[in-house]
Amino acid sequence: MNFDEYSIQFIKGVGDKRAQLFHKLGVYTLQDLIHYYPRKYIDWSKTLSVKEAEPGEPAFIKATMITPVKEAKIRKGLTLYKCNFSDGEVVIHVTIFNNEYLAKSLRTFDDYILYGKVDKTFTEASMSSPQIERVENAQGIHPIYPTTNGLSSKIIEKVVSEGLKKAEQIPESLPEYIMQEYGLCSLDFAIRQIHFPTKEENIQKARKRLIFEELLTLQLGLMMLKGARTVQNMQKIRTDYTDEFYSLLPFEPTDAQKRAVADCIGDLMGDKQMNRLVQGDVGSGKTAVAGAVIYSIIKNGYQAAMMAPTEILAVQHYESFCRLFKDVDVRVALLTGSTKATEKREIKRRLLDGEIDLIVGTHALIQNDVEFKRLGLVCTDEQHRFGVEQRSNLAMKGNNPHLLVMSATPIPRTMGLIIYGDLDISILDELPPGRQEIRTDLVTTDYHPRIYKFIKNAIDNGNQAYIVCPLVDDNESDLISAKEYAEELSTKVFDGYSLALLHGKMKPKEKERVMERFANGEVQILVSTTVVEVGVDVPNATVMLIENADRFGLSQLHQLRGRVGRGKDKSFCILVSDNKSEASVERLKIMKSTSDGFKIADYDLKSRGPGDFFGTRQHGLPKLKIADMLEDTGTLTQCQECARLILHDDPRLDSFPVLCNQISNMFRRSNY
Ligand code: ADP
Ligand code: MG
Repeated sequence: MNFDEYSIQFIKGVGDKRAQLFHKLGVYTLQDLIHYYPRKYIDWSKTLSVKEAEPGEPAFIKATMITPVKEAKIRKGLTLYKCNFSDGEVVIHVTIFNNEYLAKSLRTFDDYILYGKVDKTFTEASMSSPQIERVENAQGIHPIYPTTNGLSSKIIEKVVSEGLKKAEQIPESLPEYIMQEYGLCSLDFAIRQIHFPTKEENIQKARKRLIFEELLTLQLGLMMLKGARTVQNMQKIRTDYTDEFYSLLPFEPTDAQKRAVADCIGDLMGDKQMNRLVQGDVGSGKTAVAGAVIYSIIKNGYQAAMMAPTEILAVQHYESFCRLFKDVDVRVALLTGSTKATEKREIKRRLLDGEIDLIVGTHALIQNDVEFKRLGLVCTDEQHRFGVEQRSNLAMKGNNPHLLVMSATPIPRTMGLIIYGDLDISILDELPPGRQEIRTDLVTTDYHPRIYKFIKNAIDNGNQAYIVCPLVDDNESDLISAKEYAEELSTKVFDGYSLALLHGKMKPKEKERVMERFANGEVQILVSTTVVEVGVDVPNATVMLIENADRFGLSQLHQLRGRVGRGKDKSFCILVSDNKSEASVERLKIMKSTSDGFKIADYDLKSRGPGDFFGTRQHGLPKLKIADMLEDTGTLTQCQECARLILHDDPRLDSFPVLCNQISNMFRRSNY
């Protein structure tokens, strides 16, 4: 039987009306039903005597009914049913409200289990509206399901039980050797036990299997999607020019950089088009990695495009590539929104004629009228600023160029495999040597006078400073107070210094203009209400002051801190917060204790959840029923390994029909 095609309303006890209610819970088919898991359990076998029960605490009391039910109509709509039970020592007065069905079902001298709060006096006890089950029905552990109006947990329990009868044997999705390898019970056992555990420890066994099942399904689905998107390598290179490129560098590349470059070159020489993310902390040297890949592809006769999210960044990249390639035969050009029309036309012509090897630019590069002669590689910097769509837009140009994406947002590896499901990942987990630590301090607002003095000192020494003050809410009045703060700083505190304000409501062009003035030293202090443009290099800036630091995620703070410490001078990051809560202080102290972006990301992930990482992509990911990406990272890692093994032997999952079915189910529902 195909559980997917078996509609819920054909299960015993479910008619048209109940089916509608089940639909509300997202349960349409038998398949949905057996995967509709309880949210918790109650164990009816743990019965106590009245004496043992804590007063006021819910308990299971095993008792015999000793007097028949007396009915009392209090008013319209309120009927009380009263009767007495005995646990052998103490009489329990039970009151039932309105539940005629239950009241009529009780039989004197039969044994029941009462579940509810027990109120005790010296000689007697009472329970108000307890759950009452006949002893023979109340054996063991019972599931409690998430409910909806009109559909109680108890009804769901009954229907699930019918559903499991109907299903007979639940087909196994995994071969024996995988279950053995990861210590998993069978799927049939897991599903039956997750609903109706015969003993407590079986719940854990069942959960383990079902979490594994779900994460494996997710991972396989993502990997297959990636496989489906993979295209043949149309820009295969024959010769690796990495060593030649390294000789151009004024420094020795780190091992991490070498590994990342080797990954990329391996892709370029392989059978599949490259789709790679290079992830590395600020300052880990991603530009040099991109440079190496760009150099090799150009030397093999192709063109390369490097795209940056802002004009300033594009200009910075352009200038550093010009410097790097000044003695070799690589022709570099810059194309941005502010390139003049005549020049633009000329650049486009040269791109089409193959007279430019490397074009650096902004979004202007993905406009339709920009064409290439032999585009072999597209490289985008700071990927989180670019949508997936834009990425693929650029990839459409030319003949499926290789794609290299660089990101400075450290994401734990397991998480990255989910978020960037469609990319391979190389990680730069090492900073170039000799990088000086940025001194980080955590202070309260009463330190302001001293901080201001410190900043003035730095500026008098020829350095620059950032002051970041986050908006509490993204509204007008908040913006005004930020503006007022900037105003006050510039007229009172930093009178005589040059200060500019950057805020989220400014047009991109205006922002760029301000950043440019800061980058060229015209502006000494940059006050910003937003995260300062990522990736911009102002080596002369040595102080990063962050107001209300507790309002930022640690990863954001880390990004901000990365704006300083880029030059030869000692740099400082000052976190200001009056938030005295232990959690907040502990969080901010992490910033003091480490400069490792991955550690910080891990901590952020644990303390704040993955929202920050998933961002807008989250909606695209299938919803999980039992697994938790945060709690179950260990299992996630296992599943990633397992998924790779499975796909290696059987890329189309021909021998895994059940898994295939689960994947299409999971991804169909989420409109991935
Ligand atoms: P990011 O990863 O943040 O983009 P960059 O590529 O801008 O980092 O590199 C930061 C700085 O470190 C640059 O000034 C660059 O020249 C320098 N750098 C990169 N790699 C090395 C290295 N292996 N040794 C020394 N300096 C390096
Ligand atoms: Mg960079």
